Amino acid sequence: MWFFRSPEIVFGEDALDYLLEIQGSKALIVTDQNIVALGFVEQVQAILAKAGIGAALFAEVEPNPSMENVQRGAEAARTYGPDWIVGLGGGSSIDAAKSIWIQYERPDLAPDEVAPMGTLGLRQKARLIAIPTTSGTGAETTWPIVLTDTAERRKVSVGHPENIPDIAIVEPAFVRQLPSQITADTGMDALTHAVEGYTSQWYNDFADGLCLKAIQLVFDYLPRAYESGSSDPEAREKMHNAATIAGLAFGNSMAAMAHGLGHSLGALFPVPHGRAVGLFLPYTIEFTVRGDMPTRYADISRFLGLPASDEAEGAASLVQAIRDLARRVGQPTSLQEAGISAQDFEAQLPKLVDNAFNDSTMVVSLRIPDDTEAQKVCRYAFEGKAVDF
Ligand SMILES: [Zn+2]
Repeated sequence: MWFFRSPEIVFGEDALDYLLEIQGSKALIVTDQNIVALGFVEQVQAILAKAGIGAALFAEVEPNPSMENVQRGAEAARTYGPDWIVGLGGGSSIDAAKSIWIQYERPDLAPDEVAPMGTLGLRQKARLIAIPTTSGTGAETTWPIVLTDTAERRKVSVGHPENIPDIAIVEPAFVRQLPSQITADTGMDALTHAVEGYTSQWYNDFADGLCLKAIQLVFDYLPRAYESGSSDPEAREKMHNAATIAGLAFGNSMAAMAHGLGHSLGALFPVPHGRAVGLFLPYTIEFTVRGDMPTRYADISRFLGLPASDEAEGAASLVQAIRDLARRVGQPTSLQEAGISAQDFEAQLPKLVDNAFNDSTMVVSLRIPDDTEAQKVCRYAFEGKAVDF
């Protein structure tokens, strides 16, 4: 038995106006100071006010929010008593909103005690709206929550299918001015979600089409969005849609090894999530296609019109296309290029691999590495050499 879960998704020009139609009295907007400075919070508050909904602000979300951070947000929710939680921002703000919502409804659960079993009993007090302001994480469509355990320097993944947002508002105006670096980092995240969603062990008929469409959109529009800044609204809107489609895709199948390694890397080194997973993606494809289980990379390459007479050629074409795309949008293609020194890499390698195995994405790879193999893949990724074992 499998499920396909999705929020109600509102997209395209003026999607934000959908807030005029919601019923309620109080909303807590969960966001960060950058989003306040950009004026996005004011826009959301103004529309909510027209709908007769008051809005308080928790604008203290940190990048990669810690447990303490979301506990402070939950305190704000308990004090204000909202019937809507609105996560406005990148993946960090939306994930923080999910965690704050759960703690508001279930004060008996610590942020890291939320597991995907049994019943949570959410929606007694509030519902969740997610409004992404980057085009990448797909957090507006998914339920897993990534928090940072500051003491242990690792990321923890928590969440329950119930905490999927009720409504995702994919408003292209919020990404029109996205800086090129963030466009590239988050765009590579969307691509990685879609490729891994198609090629993890949990791939399925319902997610497949979404994966392929999202991959195609990223290849077609990410370079344009990156190169033309705010002067190409079509590319911006297509990338915004691509990220949500990819979120829906991998949220209903699963990400794989590039996410396991990328999450772990991001907790040890200051490499943003999308840059980290996008960097690992081609290496994990090279590794996985050499395993015993049949893989599906040639399908993707065929869909993109790349040479793919067999699986090996299809995988090689895809790897080449991903590396070309990464270079075109100024992304590093090795850990060295990402600014990690040989000394730091060697010192952290055991922890990098250890923590990756705490991530459930590692075991749904179509080739599950052992410890030694995962270390080897990381060494290839450090040097920028094609994985050939
Ligand atoms: Zn991701």
